[in-house]
Amino acid sequence: MRLHLFDRRLRPLATRRVVIAALLVVFATMAMMVASIVLAALDRVASYANHLDEERSRQTLVGAIQTFEHQLGATLTDYTVWDDAATNAYVHKDMAWMVSNFGDMTFDSDLFDVAIVLDDAGRPMMAYSDGQPIEGYPKGYLTPSLIGLFEKVRSGESGREPQALGFIRTQKGIGSAGVSLIRPKSGDIDQPPENYVYLAFIRHLTPLTVERLSEAYVLPGLSLVPPVSHDTSVAIVAPSGDAIAALAWTPRAPGDQSRQQVAPLIKAALIIVTIYAVLLVVIGNAEMRRVRADEANAIKLAQTDRLSGLLNRVGLTQLLEDRVRRGREMNDDVVLLYLDLDGFKEVNDAYGHATGDRLIRAVAAGLAVLVGDGSGLARIGGDEFGIVLSGKDAQERALALASSIIAFFDEPVLLGERTVVVGCSIGICVSEGGLVEGGELTRRADMAMYSSKDGGRGRWTVYDPRMDEERESRNQMEIDLRAAIGRGEIDVVYQPVVDAKTFQLVSVEALARWTRQGYGPVSPDVFIPIAESSGLIDQLGLCVLRRALRQLAEWPDLKLSVNVSPGQFRDPSFVDHVAATFAEAQVEPARVVLEMTETYFIQSPDRARLAMERLRNLGLRIALDDFGAGFSSVGYLRQFGFDRMKIDRSLVQSLDRGHRAVEMLQATVALARSLGIPVTAEGVETEQQAVILRIAGCDQLQGYLFGRPQSPEEIAAFMLRPMELRAKAAELAFAASRDGGLLV
Ligand code: C2E
Ligand code: MG
Ligand code: MG
Repeated sequence: MRLHLFDRRLRPLATRRVVIAALLVVFATMAMMVASIVLAALDRVASYANHLDEERSRQTLVGAIQTFEHQLGATLTDYTVWDDAATNAYVHKDMAWMVSNFGDMTFDSDLFDVAIVLDDAGRPMMAYSDGQPIEGYPKGYLTPSLIGLFEKVRSGESGREPQALGFIRTQKGIGSAGVSLIRPKSGDIDQPPENYVYLAFIRHLTPLTVERLSEAYVLPGLSLVPPVSHDTSVAIVAPSGDAIAALAWTPRAPGDQSRQQVAPLIKAALIIVTIYAVLLVVIGNAEMRRVRADEANAIKLAQTDRLSGLLNRVGLTQLLEDRVRRGREMNDDVVLLYLDLDGFKEVNDAYGHATGDRLIRAVAAGLAVLVGDGSGLARIGGDEFGIVLSGKDAQERALALASSIIAFFDEPVLLGERTVVVGCSIGICVSEGGLVEGGELTRRADMAMYSSKDGGRGRWTVYDPRMDEERESRNQMEIDLRAAIGRGEIDVVYQPVVDAKTFQLVSVEALARWTRQGYGPVSPDVFIPIAESSGLIDQLGLCVLRRALRQLAEWPDLKLSVNVSPGQFRDPSFVDHVAATFAEAQVEPARVVLEMTETYFIQSPDRARLAMERLRNLGLRIALDDFGAGFSSVGYLRQFGFDRMKIDRSLVQSLDRGHRAVEMLQATVALARSLGIPVTAEGVETEQQAVILRIAGCDQLQGYLFGRPQSPEEIAAFMLRPMELRAKAAELAFAASRDGGLLV
């Protein structure tokens, strides 16, 4: 459960880390994507714009070339479909006219720069180039291509119009050429075809012409180039279908220009985005490192005990988990020592929490030295510690360590000016080869520790699977006892207490009895400790008191003693409950003695004194039970002012063993009497014991000799036998006077 709490504390940090990492990655990826998309789009727009412009330029140029050819055709038509020309060609055969109207016109003309007049046989009758007559046969201009055009016209292949056009290569270069039949406007030539005269014009694509085309059609850098296929050129094709040249232009590449305009802006934007992303990564990284550090701190804090600086329970759980896992991998043993201080609570109660805290710190420091490096030391709870050892020889080391820890607590602990004595109970459990998980290991070591406590504290115990069975049967018994108390199944029997001199019944001791369903009678020595450890003793004790008081009302001449456990004393409302029970039963408290063992007085002297005072104020008397069974000291009698002392059965029965025991008993009783405390002897079984005890000074006797614990009815019958008892008393008195010398 604590681990869950710990998880919950760390979860927001981990989530934050993941979110930051995810955001960073998403942002960086998006930035890169946006950048590449924008650049790709820009490229595409640019090349598309370039392509569009190229197409447009190509179409323009194709149109320009056609127009160039058509213009020559139109010029040729103007010059050949002309009545004057027909008259001079056919009627006057006037060459001078032809020279001045055709030949001279070639000078510095925009329309044509070569003019050749041909007769029907294709012989040149006149040939002019750039205003100059061409000497001899104009073979540089009258090329096969031009002759081809001529043949086309002459043969009528040119169609309705006796005119043919086409680009040709001449000695001057590339030009548009045309051949047309000279004829009157009417179209009728009253001459036989062999007299027909033809006019050929050539208009060359001179650099000047090309430049003009370039300007007119807005085709920058237009130039005449060899006929290579080119993205930015248009072929000039001869009538034969061959490309004889090409006009190429310099692409304006408007897309590139736009890109050049926009690119710096986009680059700047990308740089900014990149810087931003880098900054984000740097800041994110720093933030991540901070979060990671926070996380590590939080883990450390969640696993550390503030008071001792050692690991806490969460830390130990984690450590155990790690060690057990590693143990499994390496086939190593893992050992857990579970420590619980003996008497810590008393130090806390007696000297306050500040001293308790100092004690914990001192113990933690001492343990750290004993445990050394490499082993895990943790403070699991208030006064509980855990030590984890692992490795091949972990078991041996654990036993040696346990012994040295016990020895360490033999010495009193010095806390400033105060010296306190505490002990330590240890439980040890081994997870061989890491086969027992951490949680189970802890549970077993804890159980072994309790076994050390039950066995008398200040010792170590190794876990034994039988402990589980015992625990289980104990748990089952606890469940049954709770149910039995609830159902009112706890019975009370009464053991007679007689006057030591007269053997007259003076009092009874109420004793709880439980017949467990399905099992039979259970000894109080078994179920009372269970009731004490489970807290059921409060209910059980009051239940016995209530019944006994009710019973006492029927025995007006008797007194009653009732046992009270230390556990009942710890209940702050105990005295109130007792008072209420007395009020309810209407029994005079002075007739009742509460019997208590010394444990509580040793453990919590101050509280015990307070509770005793309050009980006394109710009119009750208090007896110290089982004197001589434990560490009994007469000092307690004096210190707490008990109203009676009960000598334990073990002490009484030791009387059979001889003088020393008799002397010890005598001394004890004498001491109590000197303090004015009357003494009852318990467990009197033989007449000899009774004699010795009476002579020693006990004023009341209790034991099987006089009567076992019995039902109220039997007690009633018992009361009717006083004569019998008195006779026995007289007999014993005689025996005592006879053996008296022995006892003095
Ligand atoms: P105790 O208070 O010391 O009671 C005396 C015990 O000694 C009784 O055991 C009694 O049966 C036994 N006894 C008496 N005379 C003799 C004898 O001559 N020889 C032997 N061998 N035994 C004798 P019992 O009833 O088994 O009770 C055991 C203990 O359980 C009691 O010791 C008392 O401490 C506790 N106990 C019993 N009933 C109650 C109760 O109602 N409340 C509390 N808190 N404890 C109780
Ligand atoms: Mg008793
Ligand atoms: Mg007793």
